[in-house]
Amino acid sequence: MVVEKVDNQLIDNLWQQEKDLFMQRTGQSLAQLRKMARFLPLGVASAYQSQPPYPVVIEKAQGQWAWDIDGNEYLDLHAGFGANVFGHANPEIVQAMEKQARAGAHYAHPTIELGEFAKDLCGRFDLEQVRLANSGNEATMEALRLARVYTGRQKIIRFEGGYHGHHDLVMVSMKPSPDRAGKQSRPSPVPSTGGLSSGVMDDVVPLHFNDIETIRQVLGEQNIAALIVEPVMCNLGMILPEPGFLKSLRELCTEHGTVLIWDQVKTGGTISWNGANSLYPDALPDLHCLGKMIGGGLPVGAYGGKRDIMKLVADGKVEGYGTFNGNPMVVAAGHAALRVMDQSAYSQLSELNKQLHDWLKELIKEYRLPAYAQCEGLKGGVFWAAQPPKNYREYLHLVDRPLARLCQIWLANRGVLVAPGADEQWTLCLPLQELSELSILQKALEEFAAALQG
Ligand code: PMP
Repeated sequence: MVVEKVDNQLIDNLWQQEKDLFMQRTGQSLAQLRKMARFLPLGVASAYQSQPPYPVVIEKAQGQWAWDIDGNEYLDLHAGFGANVFGHANPEIVQAMEKQARAGAHYAHPTIELGEFAKDLCGRFDLEQVRLANSGNEATMEALRLARVYTGRQKIIRFEGGYHGHHDLVMVSMKPSPDRAGKQSRPSPVPSTGGLSSGVMDDVVPLHFNDIETIRQVLGEQNIAALIVEPVMCNLGMILPEPGFLKSLRELCTEHGTVLIWDQVKTGGTISWNGANSLYPDALPDLHCLGKMIGGGLPVGAYGGKRDIMKLVADGKVEGYGTFNGNPMVVAAGHAALRVMDQSAYSQLSELNKQLHDWLKELIKEYRLPAYAQCEGLKGGVFWAAQPPKNYREYLHLVDRPLARLCQIWLANRGVLVAPGADEQWTLCLPLQELSELSILQKALEEFAAALQG
């Protein structure tokens, strides 16, 4: 019998114990963050970097390892929110960056390598044309704008709880609190930050991932410009599409003249060599958004797809601007990353991930944990819910977030860095070859499982 729920008191006690241990181990990080908070809100550069009790300050990283300023060593499965699939300071990527730095870091002119990079991105992700940007956020912003101009319509569908960046349209119903999110059958749009443009709430129809019937109804009732979806939801743990869901989205969008956008900022470089494309070939979208891994560790975004939609960029009907778009350092690093992360790299890491998955399933069974393991491509994790959620509402209901947070600090205290909270997964990187290289993770998880027995 699976234990339905870990006792809250036990979670609180362990959190206190682990927090004390964390603070003993990371005193220099705390001191630095306090100093930095004078000039930087929360002492960090992005809200996602701030996490309870506080993030460690990193000094350097190499391969699969990272070191904080207290000298603690970590197996880095955070991987920069899943961007560093090639490992830190990969020699080929470093060499490409060094060469380009010596030839000048920024021109705001096209280069020969920009064209080669674009060609390789198009080949890999089934794009007819691509435009570079500086972040995943910019990629989704531009793709949605393109869809609006292409269709002459205003509204978009997005799925509650997903993350597509932080511009206005996608900050509606990003992670709405259930008391404001309205009926399960027809969710209400909820602002996820202050400062959104008035009117944006009318432009966004939040629906549920895996709920094809409501999507069908809404597409039939309203003129929808775009439907944006992460083909595997990687900002709510990992939620897989139910069989046929993505294909139905494809068919419905075609039927109703709605532009289908796959946000592959995370999945593109992680769940397979070409993201969701080879996993769901019968459901390919009109536009893709890319980011993270394709920058080789530097800030990047890209959007692209069908030529008749991308034509609007060439025609100047949708202006895609940016001082640093196609920056040669980013292009050099990203191009090298595509070379380094070839199909054999993904096969090697997916095989390792499968072995880890099998091991995790056994662990969960042995300790009867209220958890399930999910591993796809290079991504995976132990998710603290007795069964996998199908969408955001189920996720809120099923996932034990304090337990997920506890697991994260427990791992950090034992030398494994993972991305914060319940929403993220871990990401394997190229230097990892064998399961034995993940033994730090395995040992820490086994001890955690034992500690949860009370
Ligand atoms: N889309 C998805 C699916 C993401 O996970 C993220 C970032 N986590 C973004 C868009 C935004 O990308 P960036 O942080 O590069 O702006």
